[in-house]
Parts: sequence; C-alpha cells; structure tokens
Amino acid sequence: MTAHAHTHPATQAANADPAELAKFGALAHKWWDPAGEFKPLHAINPLRLDWITDVAGGLAGKHVLDVGCGGGILAEAMATAGATVTGIDLAEKPLSVARLHRLESGVDVDYRLVGAEALAAAEPGRWDVVTCMEMLEHVPVPASTVAACARLVKPGGIVAFSTLNRNLRSYAFAILGAEYVLGLLPRGTHEWRHFIRPSELAHDARRAGLDLVAMTGMQYNPLTRAYTLGADTAVNYLAAFRRPLAAPG
Ligand code: SAH
Repeated sequence: MTAHAHTHPATQAANADPAELAKFGALAHKWWDPAGEFKPLHAINPLRLDWITDVAGGLAGKHVLDVGCGGGILAEAMATAGATVTGIDLAEKPLSVARLHRLESGVDVDYRLVGAEALAAAEPGRWDVVTCMEMLEHVPVPASTVAACARLVKPGGIVAFSTLNRNLRSYAFAILGAEYVLGLLPRGTHEWRHFIRPSELAHDARRAGLDLVAMTGMQYNPLTRAYTLGADTAVNYLAAFRRPLAAPG
C-alpha cells in the first residue's frame, strides 16, 4: 500500500516484498551496532564465515556474491578474508549504511541495488561463490531466488543459504523465544509461515540444478548466550549446494 509509493524502480516487479524491505530500511542505522537489533547477525558472523570458507574450499582470491547483503556484515568479512565481493540488496537504506561503513572500515565491497533475478539475467555464471543468508524467509517466492543464485554461480561453484526451518520448535524458539521472551530480535522480524523446511530448500535447489553438499544446524544457548553449529537443523540452519560442472545427460 503506502510502502509501494516509496519503492525504488529496481524493486518494481522484482521478487520482493516492499513491506519487508521497509522493515530493514527502518532499522538500517542500527546495522553495525553490536548491541542493537542486528546483534544476532554479528554474533553468528564468525561461525557462518568459517562454514562458508570450509564448504567453498577457501575464499581468498574468489569472486563472491552476497545476495541480500543488508548493511554488509558478512560481505565485509568475506572481503577481509581475501575475496572480491559484490553485495546486492533491494533495500536502499541498508545499502547506504553498507557504503558508509565501507568508508570507515576501508574494506572494499561492490554494493549494488539490484535483485538476484535481474543480476542473473545480466551477468550469469560470474561468481565462484554465492551466499544468501537470512533472506529467503523474507522473499515472496524463495524458489525464484534459489534459481537466480544457481544461474549466478559458475559451473562448479558453491551456493550457500541460511534460513529458518518451519515446525513447532521453530515457532517456539525463533518467534516466541527470540522475539517475545529473550528480545533477541524486534517483534515482527519474522513470519513463521514464511520459514522454509530443509526439504523444501533442497527441492528448490534440485529443480534449479544444484546438488546438496552440506547442511548444518545453528543453535542459540540462552544460558551462555552463544551460538554454535551442530547437527540439529530444527530452527536455524545453513545449506550449501554445488552447481555441477556440466549438465548431466
Ligand atoms: N544477509 C545479511 C542480511 C540479512 S537481513 C546478513 O545475514 O547479515 C535480510 C536482508 O535481505 C535485508 O537487508 C533485506 O533488505 C534483504 N532483502 C529482503 N528481501 C529481499 C529481496 N527480495 N531482494 C534482495 N534483498 C532482499
């Protein structure tokens, strides 16, 4: 409704929900506050950076695309690790914050306001590694984003996603626990019905021609206030896929 009036041309007809983009825009100035609304993203960043580095067989010297990069927490970390990073997002304010932070940190990332599908049409097969973290659950048609990521990565390259599983436990932990009891995230950050089961992500990826290479869960321990990676994918999880070198058959 009113959100549409402020929609940038790049988001029109894109696979994007203007209300979701506005939600991230409204909090963008807090993106790099380690104690602010995006604290969980800061907390999980070293874990996911290690995991991505591992599944990608190293990041140094690679061309990496971060889809839904927001303020650039992961994008900057991957660039610091030696990758040449492009960060894309359809929300303008988080991208402005990312560009400002780049001035401060001196970490070079190429930030662009463009959707995954549009970039896939313009520059297919250009990236060694494509990451898309904590974004699929905010997108109208996740399968379209997954397919775009599959087109963006080079044959033989890796696509890594993270998102939230959809079951009773993820409702209890990610919505009630994280947003209402512990206050780790602002209320309304997530809509449970948009969460994605690992089987659904794997299905979308397979239809996009990707092969599953690794999956891991991510747990939050409220007592130690620490995140860890582990076998339990019931709430948060990461999944990595490879685009085959040549189409089979
Ligand atoms: N990937 C980052 C930010 C996660 S927050 C990280 O994990 O640190 C989710 C981000 O996805 C926000 O920046 C939001 O603007 C972006 N986003 C939501 N829908 C999008 C879409 N359809 N296309 C591109 N970015 C989108």
